[in-house]
Amino acid sequence: MPKRVNGIKYVIVTGGVLSGLGKGITTSSIGRLLKSHGYTVTAIKIDPYLNCDAGTMNPFQHGEVFVLSDGGEVDLDLGNYERFLDVNLSRDNNITTGRAYKSVIEKERHGDYLGKTVQIVPHITDEIREWIKKVAQQSGAQICLVEVGGTVGDIESMPFLEAVRQLHQEVGHENLVFVHTTLVPVMGVVGEQKTKPTQHSVKELRSIGIDPDIIVGRGEEPLNQQTKEKIALFCDVPVEGVISAPDAKNIYWVPLILDDQGLTDLLLNKFKLAKRKDLKEWKKFVDKIDNLEHKVTIGMAGKYTYLEDSYISILEAFYHAGAATNTEVNVEWIDAEKIEEGKSEKLKKLNGLLVPGGFGIRGAEGKIFAINYARRNKIPFLGICFGFQLAVVEYGQNVLGLDCHSTEIDPSTKHPLIYILPEQDGIENMGGTMRLGEQTIKIKENTIAHGLYGKNRISERHRHRYEVNPGYIEKLENNGLIFSGRSPDRIRMEICELPSHPYFIASQFHPEFKSHPLSPAPLFCGLVKASLEQKNKSPPR
Ligand code: GLN
Repeated sequence: MPKRVNGIKYVIVTGGVLSGLGKGITTSSIGRLLKSHGYTVTAIKIDPYLNCDAGTMNPFQHGEVFVLSDGGEVDLDLGNYERFLDVNLSRDNNITTGRAYKSVIEKERHGDYLGKTVQIVPHITDEIREWIKKVAQQSGAQICLVEVGGTVGDIESMPFLEAVRQLHQEVGHENLVFVHTTLVPVMGVVGEQKTKPTQHSVKELRSIGIDPDIIVGRGEEPLNQQTKEKIALFCDVPVEGVISAPDAKNIYWVPLILDDQGLTDLLLNKFKLAKRKDLKEWKKFVDKIDNLEHKVTIGMAGKYTYLEDSYISILEAFYHAGAATNTEVNVEWIDAEKIEEGKSEKLKKLNGLLVPGGFGIRGAEGKIFAINYARRNKIPFLGICFGFQLAVVEYGQNVLGLDCHSTEIDPSTKHPLIYILPEQDGIENMGGTMRLGEQTIKIKENTIAHGLYGKNRISERHRHRYEVNPGYIEKLENNGLIFSGRSPDRIRMEICELPSHPYFIASQFHPEFKSHPLSPAPLFCGLVKASLEQKNKSPPR
């Protein structure tokens, strides 16, 4: 039973000095800690860019596009919130400048502000403030975290900071806490921790009317006592309000590091909320991933191989599946374009292969080569979305002997095994127009998929335009590739597998988006387990 709370409490997280400080992880960790005391928590991410959502953004620049159950294509931080808080968020939990302006402009066109001059202050700021309150209320949560993206001092974040300043006025100091995350760099031969950037960013925050209650200082090493005291003195916060966030072994450690310094107690005292901590399950999980007995190497054949953030949910899903199977997953990045240039030696040292989601022609042939290698050499394989589509194409080309492809790669292919969803024909707008979000999938009994999920009906998240052409299903199945998961109307193919292979399975959906620390994705657990068996069976090459 969640405890009673009078009115919603807000924790606002801002960032200073520079971006990329791990504000999202700090926010998620605070949420996890509050939840561990029995409170219900939701989280909102504010992104001060003009895109209406993350769906049209390049993962190479911006990191992965996370997909919510309602089909919202959102910032990857919402993935962290869902994983840390074990909640299901909605697209409204991601506010962007584009969405706020679009809503105000639509209201203006509708005549809602008739006679008034529509301005950033108060109309955009009111819109943001009301939006935050509405999402908090509709979520039913007792505590709402709001992470303001960007860095304090940026022109872009101004309206958002003004909105949260006003929210503070409105709900009162006992109901809203400001947490400011900053960088504490180390300089010189003696390795002195420098507080000046923090002082400057707090000064900047003060100039817009926000007084931080808590300062989280990021750095490689923990802040020493002297540094904490200096920040407390110059930034006017109590010394116990200066929290150290050093680099952690993995992100799941962060809640424990923050809690050890009294951050949770401080927040709950401020909110006058009762304490009843239970972090046992979380600690067990963190402890487990630090002490795994086995190790496997799984290849990731992708395009954005140099930015781990482009595949963050997959990497996290490996952590979760690793904890469940007592196995550390060492991810070997395989640049699909290098395979096309003939450099495929990396494939030889793999215990398993994952071909993730993707778009477009670049690297597609390299991925097909890797899938072919895994199929013929009985290397455990999991294909996701584009990886699923290419696995079907590979089978069509090399087992059925068809001159076939996906029309995404070869629009004039003789046999379009993968083609555009009929309802997608003629769609010109790019934003939010794919098949998105959670859909039901029926699973055939006596298949690998059924064994892994243990049920006949599942629901997973999607983000695609292309799908398997129903005209080729019979031929593929007659030749050994079984479609073990389909949409309830049996028209869309959702999972394919090869019974004659130790583990060759692929899904049209993205299992990684629903993988949480304590409830890992079955298809990932299957891959890790099969890779370990493969490793134990075959002598080292
Ligand atoms: N490009 C493919 C499609 O649009 C796959 C998309 C994906 O992998 N997310 O269907």
